[in-house]
Amino acid sequence: MQFSDFSLDKRLLTSLEHMGIDKPTEIQEQSIPVGLSGKDLMASSKTGSGKTLAFLLPAMQRIISTKALSKRDPRVLILLPTRELATQVYSQLRLLVANTQYKALKILGGENFNDQAKALARDPHIVVATPGRLADHLKQRHLYLNGLELLILDEADRMLDLGFAEQLRAINQAADHKRRQTLMFSATLDHGEINEIAAELLKEPVHVSIGASNVENQDITQKVYLCDNLGHKEKLLLTLLKQEQHKQVIIFTATRSDTDRLATKLADEGFTTASLSGELKQSARNQIMDQFSRGQQQILVTTDVASRGLDLLNVSLVINFDMPKLAEEYIHRIGRTARAGAKGDAISLVGPKDWDNFKQVQLFLRRTFELSEIAGLKPKFSGLKAKPKGKPATAKKAAQNKTRPAKPKSTTKTKDNRDKRFITGVDIGDAPMLRKPKSTLQDTPEE
Ligand code: AMP
Repeated sequence: MQFSDFSLDKRLLTSLEHMGIDKPTEIQEQSIPVGLSGKDLMASSKTGSGKTLAFLLPAMQRIISTKALSKRDPRVLILLPTRELATQVYSQLRLLVANTQYKALKILGGENFNDQAKALARDPHIVVATPGRLADHLKQRHLYLNGLELLILDEADRMLDLGFAEQLRAINQAADHKRRQTLMFSATLDHGEINEIAAELLKEPVHVSIGASNVENQDITQKVYLCDNLGHKEKLLLTLLKQEQHKQVIIFTATRSDTDRLATKLADEGFTTASLSGELKQSARNQIMDQFSRGQQQILVTTDVASRGLDLLNVSLVINFDMPKLAEEYIHRIGRTARAGAKGDAISLVGPKDWDNFKQVQLFLRRTFELSEIAGLKPKFSGLKAKPKGKPATAKKAAQNKTRPAKPKSTTKTKDNRDKRFITGVDIGDAPMLRKPKSTLQDTPEE
């Protein structure tokens, strides 16, 4: 099948040609006809599968080929959970609008509100936004969505994890008319709130599912090394980095303090290194991502702020210096390599503190990893035994439990029972959720 088999405007086909893209991917083959038909869509598809064009092409086709419902309101609104993802979608969109007279605008948290209000007053046809900031502009009446024809929610599961349900509902309400079409994309449909919000936002959607979220990309070679402690981890890391030539490397750490420390260490070892964490100002984050994507550094050390969707074609190795707290995040992290059909490697360093998370990843993927070793750096650690339920693990713990008052139970579970502590601090500036006071954030896994 070719893109020319869809009835797409010539200008869009020319843009695709310029992008070097000719054959649709599976998600595109299945989603574009639904998008073009005007029906609602609920799609799940693994990361890096070409989702962005699966919704941008029908969106552009609609704008080009039909008359606007309103002269002033945006015709298409695309919502994404993070600024990085929104920026990435916007850059693909710009390639498509380049050949046309239509105006696209990006509205992100962390950027100047008044400038955004002025840009909205120039009546863009397509808006790409993070939901928190867009909802703020709606409240201030800087835009109206009565004429919205197409609402697109990308990475909807992540938007819900970040606590954006209320904003999504407000946006839905503002665009509540019969002629609106909605396309919802989610990495997983196996998510407590997704079906709830889909029932509210979508009308008899067509379901498209391309590969479950726990299906691994076969182009990624995954290895696991056990480590005794932080020092051992760092030695392994340096050895692995020096052992083979890699194009670009992303290293994921659990905390922002680790990110900075590790980046400094690697720079001392002579690697060109950047570090990125959610606490940086948006302009600094944009600059870091921009430089890294242009190949100015070989290594990016980051927290999960960079685990989703980012399309960095030269990343040939992903290293989990710490295992992610949420097993699903593992798939997103390693999905930063082997983009668009290339091959890649993923290495996980698993110490005693990572053990439980590592087990969760294995459960999630339904596989047991073989363990790799490097001569001279063999670990003593060989895994932890499961603790017997209900009994304190050691005599010391038993003594502590007698003297310490019981901790109040966490009230931060999400509906699907995931522990929100690890998802709330997540994004990235404009998430509306409860945050811990700054002073306690220092060593909490943030993204
Ligand atoms: P996405 O999943 O939308 O982030 O896309 C992942 C990467 O695949 C991006 O670099 C796209 O430019 C690329 N891509 C999207 N569609 C196609 C296609 N039909 N053929 C080849 N590459 C594609």
